[in-house]
Formats: sequence, C-alpha cells, structure tokens
Amino acid sequence: MQRPDTFKAIPLIVRFDDGAIGLAPVGPLVEHLSRRYQTMALTDDLTGLGNRRRLMEQPAPGRRAAAWVIDLNRFKEINDTLGHLRGDELLRHVAAALTAACAPATAFRVGGDEFVVLTPDRDVWPGADPAGAGFRLLHAIQGPFAVAGVPITVEASAGVAVMDDGDCADLADLVARADAAMYAAKRDRTQVEVWHAALATGNPDLGLDTALRAAIGNRELVLHYQPLVDAQTRQTASVEALVRWSHPQRGLLPPGIFLPQAERSDVIHLLTAAVLDDAVRQAATWHRAGRNVPVAVNLAAPVLASDRFVVTIGELLAETGLPPEALIVEVTESAVMTRPAESADRLRSLREIGVRVAIDDFGIGNTSLGLLTQLPLDELKLDRSFVTRIHRPPDRVIVESVARMANGLGLTLVAEGVEDERTAQTLAELGFDLLQGYHFGRPSASTLLFAALE
Ligand code: C2E
Ligand code: MG
Ligand code: MG
Repeated sequence: MQRPDTFKAIPLIVRFDDGAIGLAPVGPLVEHLSRRYQTMALTDDLTGLGNRRRLMEQPAPGRRAAAWVIDLNRFKEINDTLGHLRGDELLRHVAAALTAACAPATAFRVGGDEFVVLTPDRDVWPGADPAGAGFRLLHAIQGPFAVAGVPITVEASAGVAVMDDGDCADLADLVARADAAMYAAKRDRTQVEVWHAALATGNPDLGLDTALRAAIGNRELVLHYQPLVDAQTRQTASVEALVRWSHPQRGLLPPGIFLPQAERSDVIHLLTAAVLDDAVRQAATWHRAGRNVPVAVNLAAPVLASDRFVVTIGELLAETGLPPEALIVEVTESAVMTRPAESADRLRSLREIGVRVAIDDFGIGNTSLGLLTQLPLDELKLDRSFVTRIHRPPDRVIVESVARMANGLGLTLVAEGVEDERTAQTLAELGFDLLQGYHFGRPSASTLLFAALE
C-alpha cells in the first residue's frame, strides 16, 4: 500500500471484544473488517450455511468424496401461497434439519431452494450407500415444520455423484454431476438419482420435448382463464388464457414446469398454435353467446421471432369470425428485446387488423423507456412484484410514475397479482384501469368461468 502525500487520520471509536471503548488501532481494524466481509461473502444470510462460493472454495476432494444436490419440489408454489417471509422460515427449518442430519458432512445453500451436502468420505453414514444416504437426507428434511402455525411437509429431489466414478475431474465436476442427477430425479419423479454416464450424454430436455409433442397431439394441454376486472366497477373486462398440462400420471402441471424447456425447442410453436386455437375458439363461443369478453394469450420470445403466429392468428380470426378486438396478445419486455425491430413490426401488423397488444410483467425487464413509445401497445401490465410491495413508500413512488407514464401514452394500465382489497383500492386510486389477481379470481377452467360470467 502506497503512502499518500497528504495523510488525514480519521479517529474511529470502537468497542473492543472486552467491552472497553477506545480509538481503533488501524492494523487490527482492517483485519477485523476484512474477516467480516469474507464471512459475509461466503455465508448465506438466511440460513447461516455456506453459500455456493464457499462450497467452491473447499479443498480439492479426494477419491472417496461425494456430493448430494437437493432441490425442494414446488417451493415456488409454497412461496406464492404463504408469502416470502413464510417461505424463508421454511428454508431455515430445512437448513437446520439438513445440517443436523448430514453431520459430519457439511451442508451449503447454493440457490433459492437448492442445497448441497459435501463429504470427503462417501461412506460417512454407516450402512447407507450414496443413494440410500440421499433418501435419508430427504427423509430428514421432510418435516412437517410449523410455519406460521401450519404444518408444512417438504418434498424434494436429490442427485448424488461420487469422485471415484470414472473420470470425475474436480469439485465443480462433482457438483455438476450431482446436479444433473437431481434434474433426472425431478423429471422422472424418482426422488433420488445417482449420476451415471448416460446423464451426461443424453439431452435432458429431449424426453420432455417428445412427451410434450405427444401431449399436444393428445390434447392434454388445457387452458385456464383468469379474469381481469375493471378497477372501478369490478366487472370482468377480459380474461387471460394460461396453459396447463393435464398429465395422465403427474396431474395438472403448471406452465413453469414445461414452458422453459418448450421455449428452448421448436415445440413452443406447436404449443402456441394449440393455445391460440383453443383460446380463439373459446372466445368465439363466448362471443356468440353474447358475452363479449376479450381473451389474452401469452407469446414467448421464440414465437415473436417468426411470422408464424401472425399467420395463425389471421387464419383463426377469419375462420371463427371472432372480432380482432376480442383478442389480446401479451409479450414480455425481454421477449421483445430479443429482436426489438422485427418484433415491433410483427406486432404492428397484428395491431393493424385490430388485435390488441399488451406488455406483460412490466418493470422487471430492462426496456428502454424510448422503446416503449415505439412499440405498438394498448395495455401495460405492471409486474406482480411491484403490486405486492405497493404499501412501501419507495415502491409506491415507482408505481405512481408508471401510472402517470401509462396515462400519458394512452395505455390501459393493468396490475397483476392483486391479492387483497386494500391493494385493489390503492391501485384504483392511483388510476389503474384493470386489476388481475387471486383477490378477484384464480385461473380456472372455461366451464367454471362461464358460470361466473352469467
Ligand atoms: P403471466 O402471463 O404473468 O401470468 C400470470 C401468472 O400469475 C399466472 O401464473 C397466474 O396464475 C399468476 N397469478 C395471477 N394472479 C395472482 C396472484 O394474485 N398472486 C400470485 N401469486 N400469482 C398470481 P401461471 O398460470 O403459473 O403462469 C405463469 C407464466 O407462464 C405466465 O405469467 C406466462 O408468462 C406463462 N404462460 C402461461 N400460459 C402461457 C402460454 O400459453 N404461452 C406462453 N408463451 N406462456 C404462458
Ligand atoms: Mg400474461
Ligand atoms: Mg404477467
């Protein structure tokens, strides 16, 4: 460290470990702070476990080492239903149970609901092979844990890899293998999988891709519809079509489970065509019955990258006779940003025939505000994360300015994720036009909604 030309000392008063108060000696202070920062950088705040960085800083594993990757099933759902604070509470319970069960091995939290257990000796628990140990760990964290007085049972999937299996190179490789095995366990609902070479060569999305194609052919995709209500009158103004996979063995699967993979392959085009077909026909049926409820359909980024959806929509409107104004397409900022100019052109051609365009999940992407004025838009849907936090003053300021901007641009302003009356009223006062959320109705089958619209 170079000595500066002019040197100013800033006297800092600190409390020493023995309770005495005095001037901070520079050397020990720097040491203390760098130790603190290091602990902070390597520890997960929520659970106190080591984080991914600390895991990756562990000494090189010996030949007997093993790693388990454990990922909670449906944690997002738990979080969404009980709220983030409760979700955090559950994670702390799981972390404590895992730490107790895996000793003398070490547990780390490496992601939202993902944990790793690392041991230098694969036979660390007498009588349990690595797969058996995986089941023991899952059993240890299954609870039930009391979260806000409600007993919650935890389901999870585990993958395990061992160093002495073939050509495992280092710690990163070991954890990556356990991770691949965990994905296989999650996908095949086997709870625990041990890494094997086929997992490395096989494309894990391949199976799902084929299955999803077949499912579309078998008409296993179903649409649920969620109402958007007028903020003042509370009447249903439109509905959003949300896709689900009615899987013969696994039950009703939410889009989060299969859409990301679908978007990485061509199957997303097939899926979108099926969804558009269903939604437009449903809207036309409602329309003929005198219920003029517009239907919104979500379009993913790869869909916007091709002309296909424009053609499909044109054909469907012509065939069913649904007025174009009764169809809304929802696109996210990031989907548009992938190819802004082309996407804008395609959306513009839809809008010219009367179809409406909504920007979805607004606020979490990074659209330049300039782009917003260039996009052919009718509706702006503010992301749920802002709506949930609207009662905190800084977030309210953001929402207010979004409301002013939408107003200035002449856009219909929608709030997503409205879960209570207080939020609904605040949003109405701020000038929101439409509200969507569990407070007004969960996504439900068309037949149920039909009754609700009577
Ligand atoms: P999105 O378009 O933002 O849809 C809203 C999501 O928020 C839906 O989740 C809905 O069930 C949920 N939601 C609605 N109100 C509330 C509330 O008050 N609280 C909470 N916590 N959640 C609420 P879902 O059905 O799981 O869909 C997730 C995402 O999947 C959708 O987000 C959309 O981006 C995508 N998606 C759904 N269907 C399709 C589709 O047919 N095609 C494409 N490309 N994407 C779709
Ligand atoms: Mg949407
Ligand atoms: Mg949304």
